[in-house]
Amino acid sequence: MRECPMWIGGREARSEAPITVAVPYDGEPFATVFAASTAHLEQAVAAARAAARAMRGLSLDERSAILRRASAALLADKEEFARTISSESGKPIREARVEVERAASTLLFSSEEAHRLAGEVVPMEASAAGRGRMAMTLREPLGVIAAITPFNFPLNLSVHKIGPALAAGNAVVHKPASATPVCAIMLARLLSGCGLPDGALNVVTGSGAAIGDFLVEHPAVRMITFTGSAEVGLHIRARAGLKRVTLELGNNSALIVEDDADLDDCIERAVPGAFAHSGQVCISVQRIFVHQRVFGEFVVRFTAAARALKIGHPLAEDTAVSSLITEAEACRVQQWLSEAQAAGASLQCGGARSRSTVAPAVLTGVPEDSRVFQQEAFGPLAGINSYSTLDEAIASVNHSDYGLQAGIFTRDLSKAFHAAREVEVGGFLINDVPQFRVDQMPYGGVKLSGAGREGPRYAIEEMTEPKLISWRA
Ligand code: NAP
Repeated sequence: MRECPMWIGGREARSEAPITVAVPYDGEPFATVFAASTAHLEQAVAAARAAARAMRGLSLDERSAILRRASAALLADKEEFARTISSESGKPIREARVEVERAASTLLFSSEEAHRLAGEVVPMEASAAGRGRMAMTLREPLGVIAAITPFNFPLNLSVHKIGPALAAGNAVVHKPASATPVCAIMLARLLSGCGLPDGALNVVTGSGAAIGDFLVEHPAVRMITFTGSAEVGLHIRARAGLKRVTLELGNNSALIVEDDADLDDCIERAVPGAFAHSGQVCISVQRIFVHQRVFGEFVVRFTAAARALKIGHPLAEDTAVSSLITEAEACRVQQWLSEAQAAGASLQCGGARSRSTVAPAVLTGVPEDSRVFQQEAFGPLAGINSYSTLDEAIASVNHSDYGLQAGIFTRDLSKAFHAAREVEVGGFLINDVPQFRVDQMPYGGVKLSGAGREGPRYAIEEMTEPKLISWRA
């Protein structure tokens, strides 16, 4: 079993409290990490503070070059990273390889954004009082940023925080999810090998409930960038005081299927959109609203495709669906399915559980106030309801506390744009599933789905402070 010490100040750090990381599919021990003590956390913040000065001193091109080298190094080590992601998160290996490729491109986009880090000229003379002044803004790094990440995209979502933070000249203390810390530690070592100054990226491991508050409340930490559940996000927000906070939280993504949609294309996209990584994707397709004229055909075809998905070990090449992150989560999904059926929904397929794995489940006739529709399922289930008018479907989509992404399939652009304007989300996808994301686009939600945007260009805006310099001639 491999040992993965924390990474603090450019060096390995161990504690007296080892933690075993296991493959969630079968519980096989995979790696040992260490629970950070308060002293480790202090060291990590101190190392980041010192390195923030070094990072600020690097030219934009030097920062860009480190990130560009890291992108290439990650691709060169793609298989090792993919197998690690797959083992610790239970993500099917084919999807894990895509995650590594995406993380490499997120690093490259961050590298490119370092070259574009510009302020602006401020038209001071637009006010009478500004006469004779010229002014500009510089985008200055914040200093130390705490990055807290979830288990479901353990590499790419870490890179979405670390890449822009470093491009902008900050230093980072990263707290990865306890289930999936190994690839985060590998990433820190890789960046170090690409010339990142010691202390510019520190990885501390251990339970978020135990060490999260320390990072969130530490006076030297200027910003918390968090991806995870709404519950933890709200806790962090309440404790962060005046620090900057970005929150990328959950969703119960909705898809509208109009009667003129290309059903072949729609089903081909919607099935993986619902069941990739067992639905443990923040924008997983969870609620599907299908026009009543095509509802029957859609249900039959979607259910057949869901049934055909191959379930198995995450490292098997032909696996399409593997386990959830824990057996407790698998039991919760089953419980929600039972509740929905008791409230009147019909189970078309799936739902059977073996340890932490649940067969892809399809429900129809789902009561809108049931948990499978109201809350974030984060499991392999999709509910399909019918509607008669587009406005009815839009109202159903908006009947949610969340608002990250939603989508519509239709050949009628006026309907598509009507829905795009009316649906309350951060991103709306026409003729695509809400589960679609490329890494340079602005990404983030409204309502309980969070605050702030990611995508390197947008994250850099959150991670820098505009400083005004005015010159009176
Ligand atoms: P989670 O339970 O909220 O955990 C996320 C991170 O927060 C983990 O590193 C966790 O550490 C840490 N944490 C837990 N308690 C904390 C506390 N009191 N203070 C500070 N940090 C704390 O979420 P998850 O189960 O890993 O991930 C699933 C959630 O992430 C879903 O809701 C999903 O929608 C959301 N997500 C959102 C996006 C997006 O971009 N919007 C992307 C992916 C996932 P431990 O692991 O040690 O508990």
